[in-house]
Amino acid sequence: MRRCSWRGGEVGPSPGSVRFVILGPAGVGRTVPTVVRRPSTLVRVALALGALWALMSAGCLGSQDPPLSVTIDGGTPAPTDGAVVVRSTASAPAAVPFIPPSPVSDLDPEDLHGFVMPLEGACLPSNERLMPNAPREYRNGVHEGVDFYFGDACVVVERGTPVRAAYGGVVVRADHQYVDPTLEEVAALEARTAEQGASDAETLDVFRGRQVWIDHGNGVVTRYSHLNAIAPELAEGIRVPGGHVVGAVGESGTPESITAPGTELHLHWEVRVGDSFLGEGLEASEVRALYDRLFEAPAAP
Ligand SMILES: [Zn+2]
Repeated sequence: MRRCSWRGGEVGPSPGSVRFVILGPAGVGRTVPTVVRRPSTLVRVALALGALWALMSAGCLGSQDPPLSVTIDGGTPAPTDGAVVVRSTASAPAAVPFIPPSPVSDLDPEDLHGFVMPLEGACLPSNERLMPNAPREYRNGVHEGVDFYFGDACVVVERGTPVRAAYGGVVVRADHQYVDPTLEEVAALEARTAEQGASDAETLDVFRGRQVWIDHGNGVVTRYSHLNAIAPELAEGIRVPGGHVVGAVGESGTPESITAPGTELHLHWEVRVGDSFLGEGLEASEVRALYDRLFEAPAAP
């Protein structure tokens, strides 16, 4: 266990502010400024308890824990890569959601395995059209992920089916503010695709709908698309373990979500590696082997 210490509730440099000083491992001090309007004694006690709890929970119990930032009452720290950001409020620190840190990633992008299916009990689709690198002639491109549809996923896939993080990592995108595009916007993007001969990155992003992205380290990111909802505790910088429910199946971003609701419910799931996706440019059999390998258990130590 690392040695950590802390002190909190100190009156900050400006009137009405409270500053926490967190002394992390190796004696490195981190000052976390927080601003509280007219803090009462009760609030200060609550803040101190909340910071102590967050520090003990997330910052000092593991052997390789990431640095800890504590944000209280709307302050906005600039988290470093891998930082655990624990959001809180001055009035209700007990409501802070705690998500346990994921195991330290030892991912090798050249040999990815040890993932869990993003839908519990699911299998890869048998239809090659639903696998990565399948051609998408209408937009002169290829499919960049795996589609899990009811009927070719080994499990029921319907609106609200829980979607899980396929591996531990840090949330880098969670579209809580997502708004469906209008039919006019969809038509404009489709016209642009026709004019350009292929979909551009912005168009592809709109058509993926409401998304969560998780960074697993070493350039490996998974994307969960067309979601109906996102787990409320998700926010950029939060670390989630593999298997954590990040959202629910939907059909957001598909034109059918507007024109024929309920007919395009599926999870489009991507494994990004660097600037590409896992399997780009490979034959279908090679792609399938790579994705089968993803879900093989890690080798015994
Ligand atoms: Zn898809």
